[in-house]
Amino acid sequence: MVRILLKFTEKIVERPIISETILELKVPINIITAYVNGKGGEVLVDVPEKELKKTISSLRKKGATVTVPKLIEVDTEKCVNCGACIALCPVDAISTDEESTVVFNKEKCVGSTCSACVDACPMRAIKSVKQTNAEGLSNFH
Ligand code: SF4
Ligand code: SF4
Repeated sequence: MVRILLKFTEKIVERPIISETILELKVPINIITAYVNGKGGEVLVDVPEKELKKTISSLRKKGATVTVPKLIEVDTEKCVNCGACIALCPVDAISTDEESTVVFNKEKCVGSTCSACVDACPMRAIKSVKQTNAEGLSNFH
């Protein structure tokens, strides 16, 4: 699966663009996070790698802005569990477990469209990396 970010303007936010694309292409699109109101919205979805190009084309034809964000990679050897990144995460993708170890839920992370934790980490334990299964889509950054 490749994670892509869809942005909808106020003009098109009420149109069921994702549902239309699923029905039209018979592609399973898995919604990860959605922040939508009357003024527009951002929806992060997973799309099967094989169906990526045609799905992106279809979504763009319908008016959505589509980007392929980088995703985070955490070096647990470098992390000192300081917690500085936790409160900064807008989607609650970072928390602590019962042993007070900082854990990341990458399923929720919106990646390089945020990067708040990457910039905040004093140990440089977090970096943004390209989605390797989206390589070759150089025009789809
Ligand atoms: S990049 Fe943003 S969304 Fe992802 S874990 Fe870091 S703070 Fe949370
Ligand atoms: S800011 Fe860096 S060192 Fe601190 S908990 Fe987060 S990843 Fe670990």
